[in-house]
Amino acid sequence: CPMKIKDIPQKLADIRKEDRFRAVHDLRMVTASRGVDRRGKEYIVFNSNDYLGMTHEKEVEEAARRAVIYGTGSGGARLTSGAVFELSDLEKEIAHYKHKEDAVIFNTGYMTNLGVLYALAGPGDVIFSDALNHASIVDGCRISRATIKVYPHSDMEALEKLLRETACDGQRFIVTDGVFSMDGDVADLPGLVGLKEKYGALLIVDDAHATGVIGDTGRGTAEYYHMEGIDLQVGTLSKSLGTEGGFAAADRTITDYLRNCSRPFIFSTSISAITGATALAALKLLEGNPEKYMGALRRNTKYMKEGLHKAGISFLPGDTSIIPIVMGREEAAMEYAARCKERGILLSAIRPPSVPKGTSRIRLTVTAAHTREELDRALEVMAEEMKSIRHVR
Ligand code: PMP
Repeated sequence: CPMKIKDIPQKLADIRKEDRFRAVHDLRMVTASRGVDRRGKEYIVFNSNDYLGMTHEKEVEEAARRAVIYGTGSGGARLTSGAVFELSDLEKEIAHYKHKEDAVIFNTGYMTNLGVLYALAGPGDVIFSDALNHASIVDGCRISRATIKVYPHSDMEALEKLLRETACDGQRFIVTDGVFSMDGDVADLPGLVGLKEKYGALLIVDDAHATGVIGDTGRGTAEYYHMEGIDLQVGTLSKSLGTEGGFAAADRTITDYLRNCSRPFIFSTSISAITGATALAALKLLEGNPEKYMGALRRNTKYMKEGLHKAGISFLPGDTSIIPIVMGREEAAMEYAARCKERGILLSAIRPPSVPKGTSRIRLTVTAAHTREELDRALEVMAEEMKSIRHVR
């Protein structure tokens, strides 16, 4: 919401009064599943998107060390100065992995969605967007200046009705998360592909939480359903690939266009050789041995879900390692996360506006890196605290 500078103190006071004031709590990850704060207190971490534990994998760390000789920064945007080899190599590898002709790297997943939607869609076009899409898609839709039609979450009938009833002189786009970040469910790709074909739309799927997580080899939503049909595949390097950055993979006409016309690509200093080499090493590890990483992720997720079930803690169903434990009231989610934190278990309490009112939740993420002992300890603490919080409620 637009805000006059003079009104900011009042706005902050209101946020505090509503108990919504947020601050950054520093945490240093000493392994992919354990962090330590500035006071030296250790936590087992269940709120990271480092799904495969790549941030601390030996070969990945080694790749970062090797690449540092090419400089600690890229020195500029790739079209003008910072065209490090590692990013072009990474683009080729991503295209191969995603079964696309080409890929373009952006500096974050967030900027990828802005860069893609801003460059491809404009006045006269219509973007059909799932109600639970990530904020970066929402913001990309807004800055594109296309007409935006939001359909109820994964409701293919409602989407078809909108497609049928919305006049469009330009291009239609359908855009969706592959795996929804707060609910952990998978988009209805067969339904979306059917509709995009019927109505001549371009289908954009953001596999930020799907890459390295679903599909036999971690290729994401398309592999999960054993089908193709996604025109433009967005993804991030910041989750299962253990670093930071984002990508868009598509036909070469689209990627060439993005390199030439997407402002976040053109006007921002690119990620460094270190980051590119790190992501490339992680991707090659995943491609070379999907069973090792994804097998561990699946076993740990299954173990955690079974443990929660035994402890009587219910969660939204799904095929991913995002486990949403809906608590309802904001205070309940906050209190539960605070109590678990006190006992060394770090969980995220997610509240509106990130999720709809009344569905505040714990968003627990399991990774391939968690040990059995860590999972057991979390289950013990979570079960005990859930009992006492139920008592208080
Ligand atoms: N897309 C989705 C679906 C996400 O969940 C996120 C981040 N949580 C992003 C994009 C942004 O990615 P990044 O954090 O790499 O900017």
